[in-house]
Amino acid sequence: MTSRNERVVVVGAGVSGLAIARSLAPDHEVVVLDKGGVAADTSSRASGVISLSLEPFPDEWAAFALDEYRDLDGQGIFSFAERETVRLVPAGNGGSYAAQAPDGGEFHSGAELRERYSGAFGDLSAYDGGLVYDGTGYLDALDYAMTLKYLAEREDASVFRDHEVTGLRVTDGTIRGVETEYDTIDADHVVYATGWRTRELLADHVELPIRPLRWNAVVVEPDGSSSENWPMGSESSMKVYWRPTRRGNVLVGGNEHLLDDPDGTPMSVEKSFRDLVRERVLPLLGGVGSGAIRREDCCPTADCASPDGLPIIDAPEEAPDGLAVVAGLHGRGIMLSPVTGRAVRSLVTGEPAPFPTEGFGLDRFEDRSADFEYRSHWD
Ligand SMILES: Cc1cc2nc3c(=O)[nH]c(=O)nc-3n(C[C@H](O)[C@H](O)[C@H](O)COP(=O)(O)OP(=O)(O)OC[C@H]3O[C@@H](n4cnc5c(N)ncnc54)[C@H](O)[C@@H]3O)c2cc1C
Repeated sequence: MTSRNERVVVVGAGVSGLAIARSLAPDHEVVVLDKGGVAADTSSRASGVISLSLEPFPDEWAAFALDEYRDLDGQGIFSFAERETVRLVPAGNGGSYAAQAPDGGEFHSGAELRERYSGAFGDLSAYDGGLVYDGTGYLDALDYAMTLKYLAEREDASVFRDHEVTGLRVTDGTIRGVETEYDTIDADHVVYATGWRTRELLADHVELPIRPLRWNAVVVEPDGSSSENWPMGSESSMKVYWRPTRRGNVLVGGNEHLLDDPDGTPMSVEKSFRDLVRERVLPLLGGVGSGAIRREDCCPTADCASPDGLPIIDAPEEAPDGLAVVAGLHGRGIMLSPVTGRAVRSLVTGEPAPFPTEGFGLDRFEDRSADFEYRSHWD
């Protein structure tokens, strides 16, 4: 059965909104509205690390998203570089990991890492080695967003920038459409994918326990030569990750934290993060030397955190019929976007998703206040 005559308005043209549009466009009339540009907010600032196999997610989410990235690889400007990830293991801990590595990981000593990834590491004297994971990789988040937009538009979705949604039209507890700064748009379904602002935007309809969250990232040009084929990596005591880039640079990210005043926060990375990268992270990496920071990526308008670190993708019971919401992506919104798109399709159409969706419900939180203790990815 086709729902071509059902209109879905998606609010927000970040990767979540675009993935949702792509998923629904083949058999719905989809209109995406963004108050700014396409992926111009948090999405374009993301590091593009796809590390679902390391995250506390059901295997089916990882498998679904990876299949999608592999399928998209080579379409238009999009490419997905599959690379292993090495989680460094501090000295003294290697023995236990060698005896039993966590799910999906395989322990390799420092010497084995050097042999496996020639030239990729610098001074590893403080480490026994690393846990190697596959099923990980990286992409360019803006290229990815533009590819999702292209694929949605190819299915006749309409994507409008500079079009702020100012409210919902609701009659008798049912969604009728949205109000925008210019006009009113009728809709059978409305999906909010508006990042941290979603709490405030939907305050009259549903309470969402989310808080603004920020990550820091810098791109470093090596003194020597590095390779885009080197593995990605992470170091949990410093709460940092890194990945190669296609231009032969290295992107280092981390230091996620809550923001009290997203609109008033400068775009530049925290000085403490820049110092950490220079003094402690770069020495771990081969060929980088003291490097030169060429780009700083941050996002004052932020992603958003949920109390348990997992996303909320739901059509909440207390909200008007026809309203779905995506929030609390907690720094994983790029890697999860195929899952987000497909999960929202299920909410709109009633079709079952090919992966578990129970974990997405808002009703898992009794307390909906935004005053919760932050749960870091690294804990
Ligand atoms: C430095 C950094 C590095 C990151 N690295 C990674 C990574 O490596 N891997 C990963 O998976 N995730 C990463 N993330 C997280 C990821 O970027 C986010 O989870 C993801 O971009 C969220 O996408 P979104 O579409 O939900 O939200 P957003 O990209 O924030 O999009 C929301 C959109 O809604 C629009 N909007 C808001 N209000 C309105 C309104 N009233 N009307 C119309 N439009 C509105 C905004 O303009 C915006 O475009 C990183 C984040 C940062 C900051």
